[in-house]
Amino acid sequence: HGEAHNRLVTPRTRPDLESIPAYVPGRSFPGAVKLASNETTIGPLPSVREAIADAAAGLNRYPDNGATELIAALSERLGVPTERIAVGCGSVSLCQELVQITCDAGDEVIFAWRSFEAYPIIAAVAGATAVRVPNTADHGHDLKAMLAAITDRTRLIFVCNPNNPTGSLLGKEELAQFLDAVPEHIVVALDEAYFEYVRPEPGEDLPDGLELADSRSNVVVLRTFSKAYGLAGIRVGYAVADPSVVTALSKVHTPFSVNSLAQTAAVASLAAANELLARTEGVVAERERVHAALVEAGYEVPASAANFLWLPLGERSAAFSEAAAEAGVVLRNFTGEGTRVTIGDPHENGLFLDFATGQGRALA
Ligand code: PMP
Repeated sequence: HGEAHNRLVTPRTRPDLESIPAYVPGRSFPGAVKLASNETTIGPLPSVREAIADAAAGLNRYPDNGATELIAALSERLGVPTERIAVGCGSVSLCQELVQITCDAGDEVIFAWRSFEAYPIIAAVAGATAVRVPNTADHGHDLKAMLAAITDRTRLIFVCNPNNPTGSLLGKEELAQFLDAVPEHIVVALDEAYFEYVRPEPGEDLPDGLELADSRSNVVVLRTFSKAYGLAGIRVGYAVADPSVVTALSKVHTPFSVNSLAQTAAVASLAAANELLARTEGVVAERERVHAALVEAGYEVPASAANFLWLPLGERSAAFSEAAAEAGVVLRNFTGEGTRVTIGDPHENGLFLDFATGQGRALA
């Protein structure tokens, strides 16, 4: 039995994978308050749970690989033709598919840094070169520098708006100017995983990727059911893109990777969209309350347009997160850079604030 494990030669895998880190998700432990993964605290609506339970009876069949019903529902909700919509096993798989349809080995993918940790991993796994453009001093995208980073090998640019983990938001006008300056053959992915939490300042336009993509065939908008729609565990996201891009995505798509429960849950959630989006009001109010309390306690905290806040603690970040976990609150640590705290319900946020304004203050 054990013989195979005693062989001396390791099966060959790509040598370059040794230098590529695995994606490490936020962890938690029983009894902890988990504010580490930008999820919603409240579970799916009863109507969504019922739809999932009903769909379980059909699990002997493969899912609809074309996600017809879900794409029709998205089309109606977004006012976008079905040919412009693709779905994926979470928007992270659409990020991966976008790299696959745009990059040959050695081609370049530009993104801000820090931003979503999956971008450099996905690029490296595809054999593409990740080009990280440092954020501005106020933790936002440096669009000028991102434009300057474009070369004749650039195939894809990720713009994360609002940005994970810093919460920064690009305005509609600056984003439009940036998109106009990017050569039209380069695909720009506007990753709007946190779009539903954006509240523009009075007098400012909502930086809605769908409007920006309308007149620009190289712009792809990525959104997800994992955050405001509260379905992180079932894995479904979508892209709005030029029909040619949607066709290309269908070629690299892992067959049946958006499972039938996910499709059903997403359709049921769209049917309850207004109720689910109304929930974001509470999160936004809590975000502002926690932000104000942290600033009051002397923390530097950039304004956030998402369902999390960024504490740029630098070298103190790891010790801060560790102490928080010991106090029962699990945060996301980015060693040497900062700590990200997801906005939970008022009770959870209160526990975080108790730590941050109490014992954690000395560590920050
Ligand atoms: N984009 C960003 C910016 C994210 O923060 C995340 C989740 N952390 C994703 C994409 C992926 O989300 P999902 O695959 O759950 O749709």
